[in-house]
Amino acid sequence: MDNADISRPAPDRPGAADAGPVPEADAVIAFWRELGLPGLVDVHTHFMPPNVLTKVWAFFEDGRAATGQAWPIVYRQPEEDRLALLRAFGVRRFSALLYPHKPGMASWLNTWAADFAARTPDALHSATFFAEPGAVGHVADAIAAGARLFKAHLQVGGYDPRDELLDPVWGLLAEAAVPVIVHCGSAPTPGRYTGLGPMSAVLARHPALIAIIAHLGAPEYGEFLGLARRYPGVHLDTTMAFTSFLERLAPFPAELLPQLAAAGDRILLGSDFPNVPYPYLHQLQVLAGLGLGTEWLRAVCYQNAVRLLGL
Ligand SMILES: [Zn+2]
Repeated sequence: MDNADISRPAPDRPGAADAGPVPEADAVIAFWRELGLPGLVDVHTHFMPPNVLTKVWAFFEDGRAATGQAWPIVYRQPEEDRLALLRAFGVRRFSALLYPHKPGMASWLNTWAADFAARTPDALHSATFFAEPGAVGHVADAIAAGARLFKAHLQVGGYDPRDELLDPVWGLLAEAAVPVIVHCGSAPTPGRYTGLGPMSAVLARHPALIAIIAHLGAPEYGEFLGLARRYPGVHLDTTMAFTSFLERLAPFPAELLPQLAAAGDRILLGSDFPNVPYPYLHQLQVLAGLGLGTEWLRAVCYQNAVRLLGL
């Protein structure tokens, strides 16, 4: 990876107001430098085969995510430009999450993801699965190939995480201590198996599973924070949480802030880059705006991921 952009000093901009717009990368670098961090780790970013990503972008931009809000993709750029941007931001490690919406895709997606990881040393080798015969084989193959982070999307996939085809998958992930990011909250629109119940049943059977609940579990924030208190392997990522976009759809209840503060060792920075309708910097600013302190931000934006993923 190219560290040149990451190690350059953050610019001093005492006169930012009259210096015109601050380039986004400079502002992101200033954010983590002020925290005394060597950069950021973002566990929830997406890299996918170009034809798949084009369909995902069309899904959001055409309004099919059914949020009732416009969802223009800010970082609709070629892959090499998106990688250059993350590196310019000082994101030292990032994931390459992908996920199938039907059977027969997972193995092919994992092959693409392994190739992407091989040519992108600062990307965390990511993989996925679907509730289909052979799922446990797909997961075993991906782990053997070096995958260190999985993604399960219950809303897009539309499958039940309690499906008996998946029982050995959760078991294998727990045994291998490989984290899995699970989109199981009901935002932006509920799915048949979203909400606390189905994933809670999975944890009851596999209490050692390292599950990272995407989007802070939105809108079931309190329920999933509670799950993290019950199981030491349950973490939550910040993806889209507290942004003006998600606050309009699923506002975080202020009375849960003490729980969020207390769970500071289980919260991981996630952004959903590049599929976001606002600048990357906005996600960082809203986390800082929570007022939970420098130590909380340092843990969330870097240290927790380094520890959990052994970086
Ligand atoms: Zn995502």
